[in-house]
Amino acid sequence: TNFLELGLSQNIAATVAGLGYDTPTPIQLKAIPIVLEGRDLIGLAQTGTGKTAAFGLPLIEMLLKNPTRPDNRTTRTLILAPTRELVNQIADSLRSFIKKTPLRINQVVGGASIGKQQLQLEKGTDILVATPGRLLDLISRNAISLRAVTYLVLDEADQMLDLGFIHDLRKISKMVPAKRQTLLFSATMPKTIADLAATFLHNPAKVEV
Ligand code: AMP
Repeated sequence: TNFLELGLSQNIAATVAGLGYDTPTPIQLKAIPIVLEGRDLIGLAQTGTGKTAAFGLPLIEMLLKNPTRPDNRTTRTLILAPTRELVNQIADSLRSFIKKTPLRINQVVGGASIGKQQLQLEKGTDILVATPGRLLDLISRNAISLRAVTYLVLDEADQMLDLGFIHDLRKISKMVPAKRQTLLFSATMPKTIADLAATFLHNPAKVEV
């Protein structure tokens, strides 16, 4: 099975071929068709399995079907990750996927200039990759709103809970529309993650690699 057969368009398939991705990884094979169907998803997968493309490629595909940005204070896609390093890594990967598209990605993390991040956000965002704390700071400054989020990704959810982000995640969950698609990835599935999934996701499909 190749990327086209998973339901991705020629444009995206050509981009990943250009990046040297010959065949989809197991998590990509399982997750991409489910995400394109519009279903919520729990993915049990470690870093290094290709999970960034597993959620990134179908989300980009869906964003391109409807390329209009509502306005420059909103984002349609929010990807939350526990650390600065991971946010930067996800954003770098996604940038390589959107090179030939009009989509815009921004990333916001703690420990970097909030003013610079605010200026970047003013240029418009289709995909925002963020750590939870800095995102809440920027929301309180009215730099970004979550009212137009239709796709939400919680990446490395177990690590986010380990790092104490549960209160931030609860706050964020109240700011995103109820009508949305949510994808949760975790390397482990303790009860705390199952509980988190129960509050964030609706009738999720589960895939494991
Ligand atoms: P990730 O698990 O998303 O951090 O991806 C791990 C690494 O695998 C990254 O360097 C990706 O660029 C690479 N990768 C992801 N999917 C594929 C694929 N289908 N074929 C080859 N490399 C891939």
